[in-house]
Amino acid sequence: MIGFAAVAQGMSNHMDDSEQKYRLLADNTLDVIWKMDLDLKFTYVNPAIIDMLGFTTEEWIGSKLPEHCPPEDMQEMQKLMTKEIASQEKHRWVVFESGFIHKNGTEIPCEVSARILFDEDGMPTSMQGTTRDVTERKIARAKLNKTLSDLKRSNTDLEQFAYVASHDLQEPLRMINGYLDLIKRKYKGKLDSDMDNYIELVVSGAYRMQLLIDDLLKYSRVGNHANPLIPTECENILDQSLSNLKTSIDDSGAVVTHDPLPTLIADGSQLVHVFQNLISNAIKFKDGKPPRIHISAKKDGSEWLFSVADNGIGIEPEFFDRIFVIFQRLHGKSEYSGTGIGLAICKKIVRQHGGRIWVESEIGEGSTFYFTIQGIHR
Ligand code: ADP
Repeated sequence: MIGFAAVAQGMSNHMDDSEQKYRLLADNTLDVIWKMDLDLKFTYVNPAIIDMLGFTTEEWIGSKLPEHCPPEDMQEMQKLMTKEIASQEKHRWVVFESGFIHKNGTEIPCEVSARILFDEDGMPTSMQGTTRDVTERKIARAKLNKTLSDLKRSNTDLEQFAYVASHDLQEPLRMINGYLDLIKRKYKGKLDSDMDNYIELVVSGAYRMQLLIDDLLKYSRVGNHANPLIPTECENILDQSLSNLKTSIDDSGAVVTHDPLPTLIADGSQLVHVFQNLISNAIKFKDGKPPRIHISAKKDGSEWLFSVADNGIGIEPEFFDRIFVIFQRLHGKSEYSGTGIGLAICKKIVRQHGGRIWVESEIGEGSTFYFTIQGIHR
């Protein structure tokens, strides 16, 4: 008997202890902790109720849930509870959002976590749970959603603008080019030499404009008709890029080497452009000697890190970011051909694959372009 008494006493001490701990927690938490019977009448609430909804515990206990919630939320809650009772799932917490009416009449958005308590025979006896004020979270979420939709809209506007501008500019430009060609053929050598010179300048200006517009159109089309992301062998992609660049590789005597490349979930037709642009730049911006270009890839966490390294002229660190901006170039068109769209296109494609692109370089030593691709390796 003494033994049982001691055990019982021990249990009761233990209960006192955990009861005290519970009280400490319940009295000091910002969340409202409650219990109610199956008639939705509150049988317990902790003091947090006064700060959240302005009621004292005495006012709250004995009141019924429908007095505190908007009718439409009440309907939803009742449906959920009925489903929970029918499921007979013990210890399962249901989490949902509902408005609660503050004593001053304002509606407070809340998150409720609730569960049904069952007796030993599986009969529901009561409900308990917590209610948390989620006003801040709602405001933050609404702000974030608005920023996201603004961003999406302005991106679409910009893309549409670039597309429409470049597309619609092509037609009049074609006409200008046609008549310039006529003027050139008819009057070249028949007017004074200044005039010949002016005609040449106008023709080459119009030709340059044609290149820029074509490139702008190319840029705005990247991703517009995106193919699905599918397993893509990067070795094949590199081969395609190299065969597209065959003439300039042969002409420059470039030596292109590469590490084994992975198979990734990607849009292959777009990745070809990335390799092609980076390799053709590595060839174009050579430093007298034949270009040596090496492509490598290594796994870095959940993504793959690719690099294209050359032994070309290099880039000053102050231009590392600028060169990825549309139409930004570091040299005159007479020094090196191009419009400055290649790296901007690479950046757009890499971003669409959830990656980043950047450069590391030293003047006279060469440049290494890095890009990452989020993708599952096979
Ligand atoms: P483009 O080649 O038509 O000029 P890009 O957008 O591909 O346009 O490149 C932008 C600029 O970045 C180039 O004009 C050049 O100044 C610099 N650049 C790109 N790649 C290299 C490279 N491999 N080595 C040195 N400079 C480079």
